Amino acid sequence: MGEVRLIVIKEQILADNRKLADQLRSRLAASGAFLLNLMSSPGSGKTSLLLRTIEALRDRYRIAVVEADLDSTVDADRIAATGVPAVQLRTGGFCHVEAAMVERALECLDPAELDLIVIENVGNLICPAQSDTGAHADVAMTSVPEGDDKPLKYPLIFASCDLVIVNKIDYLSLEPFDTEAFTRRVKQLNPGAPVCKLSCRTGAGLSCWLEWLEARLISASR
Ligand code: MG
Ligand code: ZN
Repeated sequence: MGEVRLIVIKEQILADNRKLADQLRSRLAASGAFLLNLMSSPGSGKTSLLLRTIEALRDRYRIAVVEADLDSTVDADRIAATGVPAVQLRTGGFCHVEAAMVERALECLDPAELDLIVIENVGNLICPAQSDTGAHADVAMTSVPEGDDKPLKYPLIFASCDLVIVNKIDYLSLEPFDTEAFTRRVKQLNPGAPVCKLSCRTGAGLSCWLEWLEARLISASR
């Protein structure tokens, strides 16, 4: 089992986040590492998706995960148990990830030796959408039990992401979730973003997400 490196964020983060994020994006692109920002509410299944992703891609890609949580290393411990490098950002009440935090986390990793670095953002649909982490792509995830109205209530995160994931489709027969209405609401906000419906528990639909991700990894390595 791998060891989790823990970074405690104490200082107020830089005002100049956007500039730092752009620098980070360029630096990682030059070293061939693709940085992905994964956002959702608490409990949508971000860590479960990462475990599925690691299982599917680890033979072909070198992966690392940056976990952000207010406290605890629970999620990072689950990632590290797979043997993939995991860095825990303990945000200490700070409710989203900024580029300066990612820079701190990258001090524990070697981007030149990595193909994919995933940020598991703090579980929150509001301010993660307002802060540039330096990622090359942003994914907004929700799940069937959360309801099909999330794009109406939290439009920014669905409007600004590159891909939308609906997890827990194995609950569709139990919940009043209207898949068509959900997809229509996303398309109104963000016509270009694919919507992948999947279940991390059963594995159904995972290929939509994995194919999207792998296409980006292949273009990033060119
Ligand atoms: Mg998690
Ligand atoms: Zn926040």
